Amino acid sequence: MSAQPIVLAVENLTVSFDGFKAVNDLNLYVEKNELRVVIGPNGAGKTTLLDLICGRTRASAGSIKFKDQEMTKMPEHQRVRKGIGRKFQNPSIYESLTVFENLEVSYPRGRTVFGSLFFKRDAAVRQRIDEIAALIHLSDRLEDQAELLSHGQKQWLEIGMLLMQDPELLMLDEPVAGMSVSEREKTAELLTRISDNRSVIVIEHDMDFVKRIAHKVTVLHQGKMLAEGSMEKVQADPKVIEVYLGH
Ligand code: ADP
Ligand code: MG
Repeated sequence: MSAQPIVLAVENLTVSFDGFKAVNDLNLYVEKNELRVVIGPNGAGKTTLLDLICGRTRASAGSIKFKDQEMTKMPEHQRVRKGIGRKFQNPSIYESLTVFENLEVSYPRGRTVFGSLFFKRDAAVRQRIDEIAALIHLSDRLEDQAELLSHGQKQWLEIGMLLMQDPELLMLDEPVAGMSVSEREKTAELLTRISDNRSVIVIEHDMDFVKRIAHKVTVLHQGKMLAEGSMEKVQADPKVIEVYLGH
């Protein structure tokens, strides 16, 4: 892989909850169009790391730079506007709205490239919905209420809602938990495709899935980086086997 610019630079990042350091002096660099997977035992600090990057949790020390801009003190909604998207473990979709409406409400309001020509904006939104629906395998479900979707399809819909905002960095916390084998396959393809033109950070436990998608793997343990590199390198690392893969 040729060297790409760094999109996300996390340096000496620490968060302390009543003296307990859930993330402890962590450095992490993610390149443009990279698909990074973060693994590690329960309680390693994986979810907290994403919380810190998206602004849900405030850092106690260290810095988070996104496209060379300091984010560490920026509120969550501003980070979204800068291009950071985050998917939580439980899908947050509007169950009573249709798939189409869920995607439609996720289109960023402030983008007035078409000025006041509403019909043109509508056409642009419609086109984007169609593109994304195809990507998330829901083209034939656009008029169905979201509550009728399977668990896996709901996860895809939420990914689609995030893609409506075209984030440059998309973070997903255990996106295939509870999915069937075929849903996992399709999700692997989906994540690979969306990382063609954005950076993606995925937290995942399913090692077959990780192997399929990861460009590079970061192993967290007790809030610190235990190992980092290719899947092969990380899998062969005795420290990683001891604290995580051996169990
Ligand atoms: P992982 O996602 O790797 O399983 P988490 O990031 O959820 O781990 O949690 C890391 C550690 O931080 C855990 O010990 C957890 O209990 C603790 N933790 C997370 N959030 C908070 C919080 N808001 N207050 C106190 N402790 C927390
Ligand atoms: Mg977690």
